[in-house]
Amino acid sequence: MDFNDTPELASFRNEIREWLAANARTELPEGVKYGGEAIYAVAKEWYKKTAEAGYACLDWPKEYGGAGLTPLHKVVWAQEVANYAEPDSYFVIGIGNCGPAVTHFSDEKLKQRLLPRMASADDVWCQLFSEPSAGSDLAGLRTQAVQQDDGSWRINGQKIWTSGANHSDYGVVLCRTDTSVSKYKGLTMFILDMKQPGVTVKPIKQMDGNQHFNEVFFSDAEIPDAYRLGEVNQGWGAALLVLMNERMAITAVAPDGFDRFLEFVKSAEIAGQLLRDDPQVRDRLAHWYSQHAGVDASYMRMLTAVSKGGMPGAEGAVGKLIGGRMNQDIANFTLSLMGEAGAVHDAATAMEQAYFQDAALFSPGIRLAGGTDEIMRNIIAEQILGLPQEPRADKGVAFKDIPSGNG
Ligand SMILES: Cc1cc2nc3c(=O)[nH]c(=O)nc-3n(C[C@H](O)[C@H](O)[C@H](O)COP(=O)(O)OP(=O)(O)OC[C@H]3O[C@@H](n4cnc5c(N)ncnc54)[C@H](O)[C@@H]3O)c2cc1C
Repeated sequence: MDFNDTPELASFRNEIREWLAANARTELPEGVKYGGEAIYAVAKEWYKKTAEAGYACLDWPKEYGGAGLTPLHKVVWAQEVANYAEPDSYFVIGIGNCGPAVTHFSDEKLKQRLLPRMASADDVWCQLFSEPSAGSDLAGLRTQAVQQDDGSWRINGQKIWTSGANHSDYGVVLCRTDTSVSKYKGLTMFILDMKQPGVTVKPIKQMDGNQHFNEVFFSDAEIPDAYRLGEVNQGWGAALLVLMNERMAITAVAPDGFDRFLEFVKSAEIAGQLLRDDPQVRDRLAHWYSQHAGVDASYMRMLTAVSKGGMPGAEGAVGKLIGGRMNQDIANFTLSLMGEAGAVHDAATAMEQAYFQDAALFSPGIRLAGGTDEIMRNIIAEQILGLPQEPRADKGVAFKDIPSGNG
């Protein structure tokens, strides 16, 4: 693809530069930091502002709250908004993962009702897939949905690691609807109203002190049949669509840390020595630059395919695997360069406003979210390199006959 702006993209870039300069902040308000609770309100306000200006969900159709532009406009927006502190990707799980599922599987009336409110963050969405014994082996999930005589569904069970569930109005939930077929064939995906009595959300406290994700319990939670996303028992295909979009979204919004590292080593001095003159630092810089450029190119290739009407493919696994690992390595290496100063975690006094301290604590999570490194390797091996599948002992076995500790 051509990496230069077309005349149309160049004019869009100028337009949004002007708008961002007038409307976006270069620093978050006092006391607000990424990961903390206070940023939620700031993010809602920012999304509302972008929606009112016509810059929300740039590649969604206008009738669904988007701007009717292309994925490449989104790249230009991401490049420009990166110069500001606004939490522009805060609701990426709803917009990046749930949005495509609703767009793909809901009827017109629902799309028009739900999507514009998602785009402006009037409604916040979460993704309810993982369970205590179904993360990598997602298709082994046990939350059950049973259809009632009136056609509606009742769900019972538990999800875990649900990002943002404590703030969510809706979720996309994957449930087991048939145990007599193999595990991939008895799943169905639904939209769930999170604000109903049958849904209990319990936040989980993380090692960095934040509460990003939650346990969610269902006790006869109700779902109208109109909220079903796709055919009954065809939920695995629908879930794959969500997961592919998630990996693409993570590659787009989770920083690999390279730009920040480059800025840091350009000018920082440690013990009187300029870091940029240190041979070890220069070696790391070259190594990470080549990975960063490779991930960027593969992301652009994926976007080109999507902008031509294709689906995000297995290449998303490459960006997530390399970028996630690099983010953690860069954070740890930079903290080791900082020495004792690296132990200071107060943004007001720490070097680089504690960016690398935060990254060191949160980056392990990026290597798990949306599929772990090992699962990304399996995807690359099987779907890109064409290597043999790993052994799957439960292949073709009815879900109810798979041995488990649950009896
Ligand atoms: C920051 C963050 C946000 C998240 N947000 C959400 C969310 O919003 N919604 C949601 O549904 N989930 C969410 N998750 C959950 C995430 O999808 C799971 O953590 C992930 O899929 C791994 O599942 P698990 O934690 O059960 O680990 P397990 O699947 O139990 O894995 C444990 C270890 O075994 C390895 N392993 C497992 N199977 C294989 C295999 N076949 N081959 C080789 N190694 C293997 C794994 O790589 C891992 O190292 C989030 C997780 C994080 C960290």
